[in-house]
Amino acid sequence: MLLENHTIYAKRLIVSLLLITSLAVTYGSFYFTQINSEKNIQAYFDFRVREAVSLIEIRIKAYEQVLRGTGGLFNASKTVEREEFKRYISSLNLAENFPGIQGVGYSIIIPSTLINNHIEAIRSEGFPAYSIYPEGERDIFSSIIYLEPFSQRNLRAFGYDMFSEPMRHKAMQKAIDNDAMSLSGKVRLVQESGANDQSGFLMYLPVYENGKPHTLLADRQENIIGWVYAVFRMNDFISGVHGEQAEDLDVEIFDGDIISDETLMFDSYGPFSLNKQFDNISYKINQINVVNHIWTVRIRPSSLFDSRVNKSWPLFVGVIGTIASFTISFIFWLLLTGRERAIKAATNMNMKLIKEQWRLSCIIEGTHAETWEWNIQSGDVFFNEYCAEIIGYKLSELEPITIKTWHKNIHPDDLQKSADLLTKHFAGELPNYECEIRMLHKDGSWVWILAKGKVASWTDDGNPLLMFGLLQEINQMKLTEKALRHQSQHDALTGLPNRMLLTDRIQQAQFIASRNNKKLALMFIDLDKFKPVNDEQGHHAGDFILIKVAQRIKSCLRDSDTVARVGGDEFIVLLPTIEREQDASGAAEKILDVLNTPFEFAEQSLSITSSIGIAFFPEHGNDGSTLIKNADTAMYCAKGDGRNNVKIYQPN
Ligand code: GH3
Ligand code: MG
Repeated sequence: MLLENHTIYAKRLIVSLLLITSLAVTYGSFYFTQINSEKNIQAYFDFRVREAVSLIEIRIKAYEQVLRGTGGLFNASKTVEREEFKRYISSLNLAENFPGIQGVGYSIIIPSTLINNHIEAIRSEGFPAYSIYPEGERDIFSSIIYLEPFSQRNLRAFGYDMFSEPMRHKAMQKAIDNDAMSLSGKVRLVQESGANDQSGFLMYLPVYENGKPHTLLADRQENIIGWVYAVFRMNDFISGVHGEQAEDLDVEIFDGDIISDETLMFDSYGPFSLNKQFDNISYKINQINVVNHIWTVRIRPSSLFDSRVNKSWPLFVGVIGTIASFTISFIFWLLLTGRERAIKAATNMNMKLIKEQWRLSCIIEGTHAETWEWNIQSGDVFFNEYCAEIIGYKLSELEPITIKTWHKNIHPDDLQKSADLLTKHFAGELPNYECEIRMLHKDGSWVWILAKGKVASWTDDGNPLLMFGLLQEINQMKLTEKALRHQSQHDALTGLPNRMLLTDRIQQAQFIASRNNKKLALMFIDLDKFKPVNDEQGHHAGDFILIKVAQRIKSCLRDSDTVARVGGDEFIVLLPTIEREQDASGAAEKILDVLNTPFEFAEQSLSITSSIGIAFFPEHGNDGSTLIKNADTAMYCAKGDGRNNVKIYQPN
């Protein structure tokens, strides 16, 4: 027991260690997968940032080309008329090919001395409301005279002096100073109406008087006549750059290298919103050079970022690993303890079988049951000791026991009956085999036995294989049965057949007589004045006479004839085959005679007579009851005729 406990503890320890180890391995896998996953997400984020930034740079380059083309238009001709400008810009199809660009225009420089001439000239082109704004005195004016598309919010910029506004002035001046394209800082475009305002910026390219030098700064300052420029609304610009693609990123663009609310030009998701799920992904700050101007781009994953990356793998590894750890440990536990459980189950089953066998043995011994088994295919039979005892043997005396031992000891008359019942049982017509048979006892007598049994197993081709059953000695039962049957068919006082047995005998006799074309006779005998004998001599005397009467009637007849007592002093005689009617009359006369002889009882001589009526078959009736009735009628005729005589039934 102690050893058993130790073994169980050892197995528990092994399984616990296995579980702990596999859980540790699972945790390790989870941890490394987590780190790996974070690295992958970070790498994907970095890639997306590079992609976003590079798209901005590429798109700016494209816009630069638009502006250079427009500058080229001015370089190529002495003058560029409004209509020419319009045609050129509309041929670029800005909305489709360069989304995000609000407009491309031309701003001209006007010395203050020529301002009125200029206004007149533009007004005369069909713009009577044209003027330069903001108003005020200054040495040099500039004015946007062309801006395409010349419609909607762009109309507000017509006549605007960008040179008067410091942020734009700086970029315009820078373009002249560097003789290169320049970009303004963050501005509020004059196109903005106050609703849905966006930050804006402008891109400038200086335009010099045709054919004049502009290599030196002094030449440029001398020969500058205006700027071609492009206007951008920041949100439109970015959505033109990234389209839907940028939704997984929270992009902010600041003018210059300072991150502040003032310098914020673009914010894709409003206030800098953090995606809490990606706290550990460091945001990216990139400074990009756009047309010799610095923009600072700050990018973080947006709330849509997780839909683009698979971050559930570590969780999957963790869950699957945990389930696998418990499953493996459980299976291992089953394997370790399997043998013990099998032994325990087998022991339990064995104990049950032993108990069951013991119970059956007790029942057999207690009831003295004679059991047998029969292998129908091999013919081997097993009897228990009690079976042999029924027929007076010891089991060893009968050995070797086969089905032949059984057949040899059965009464020849019962052998066929038993075989027929077995055949029916094997064929499924009888649920059980049950047969009363006689078996030869060692002392030579026949013993009545009740054999019962049932087939318990069958061969594959449907033949009976094993049969089990009981034997029961029923000798006493058979004797009792016989006695009861006799009682029910005989008169207790005289031992003669009663009316029931007589009826049966008449039926049989009728059948034989009909077949043989013979007659039979029925005599009804009633003692004359028997009542007074009883009354005077007592009932004992009456009984004595009745017994003697029975014997005397029998003495007159053959063995094949039947005498029955059917009432108090009434007897019926059946003569089953008679050749002639006289034979019956003769027998009746003989009975009259023997009954006339006095009876000696208690030293007294008692005399009686009798009256007899006779009916014949088939003349006087075709069935027993008619024949009896008619014989009775004839008997009453005999009584009526003074008693002590014989009358044959007369139908009339
Ligand atoms: P009858 O000549 O007209 O036949 O007159 P009876 O006196 O014989 O009267 P009946 O046949 O009508 O009656 C039969 C009598 O037999 C009545 C009864 O006293 C007597 N008896 C009937 N059964 C028994 C019996 O078992 N034992 C004795 N001792 N007497 C019986
Ligand atoms: Mg009578």
